Amino acid sequence: MATKKQATPDIAELSVEEKLRLLYKLQLFDSELDDIRILRGELPLEVEDLEDEIQGLVTRIDNFNEKLANIDNNIAEYKNKIKESEKLKAKYDEQLHDVRNNREYESLSKEVEFQELEIQLSNKKIKEAKEEISLLTEQVEVAKKELEVKKEELLLKKKELNSIEKETEKEEKELLKKSEEIAKNIEPRLLAAYKRIRLNARNGLAVVRVERDACGGCFNKVPPQRQVDIHSHKKIIVCEHCGRLLIDRPLSHNILEELGGKFKEILLKEQEEEKRMLEAKAKKGRRTTRTTKVKK
Ligand SMILES: [Zn+2]
Repeated sequence: MATKKQATPDIAELSVEEKLRLLYKLQLFDSELDDIRILRGELPLEVEDLEDEIQGLVTRIDNFNEKLANIDNNIAEYKNKIKESEKLKAKYDEQLHDVRNNREYESLSKEVEFQELEIQLSNKKIKEAKEEISLLTEQVEVAKKELEVKKEELLLKKKELNSIEKETEKEEKELLKKSEEIAKNIEPRLLAAYKRIRLNARNGLAVVRVERDACGGCFNKVPPQRQVDIHSHKKIIVCEHCGRLLIDRPLSHNILEELGGKFKEILLKEQEEEKRMLEAKAKKGRRTTRTTKVKK
């Protein structure tokens, strides 16, 4: 009787080439996932920053308004004080009319003078408070304008984030599913190594190609014999400098072709570039032979 287990080949029985294929596919899907996350990554932080800034501005405006209310209260108090002093002054002025001796006159005159000084002082304080009010009002206006700008910015960022999330959500789910499916077929030890290398590597690359005789991850040279070993698919070979898993270009191209879609596009672009480079090289070669001929 056919069981479910027979549908997928036994992981332990996979050839090295099969293992490399799985690892490279896993890397391709995981890199796509990384790209989506990077694309989306900055925006939530920017939205958060803007929200913090807006909260800060609101608090600042509240504080200004509180200060303004306090100053208004102070002005009312000074005005009351002035009224009191005017009342007292009027009373003393009145009494000055019926003084009986010099001493009484002097004492009352001093009281009048004192109340006049009090009125002056209160008026000075009111003037200062009004200056403070105009300064604070200006600051409130500036903060309010800034708040409006930030609110508008936030609205735009949120819109952008929403559309990117909507756009990428489906793609991310599909990629994640594929990545998980492939990971299931890789032996745990190899998968753990892949994850460990990916975590430590910049760009999240654990499986890289040999590009122009060098490791595609750290760009250190890969010795010729090692390259032969990589091509032969007899063993999984790692870069002796960075520890990344290495794969040869033909196998990678074969996998890109097999995956199709977006990956096929990557492949076509690469082949196009390769062609251009070869042509440029050939042209340069012809030119140098010509100039040497001329020299002769
Ligand atoms: Zn390397």
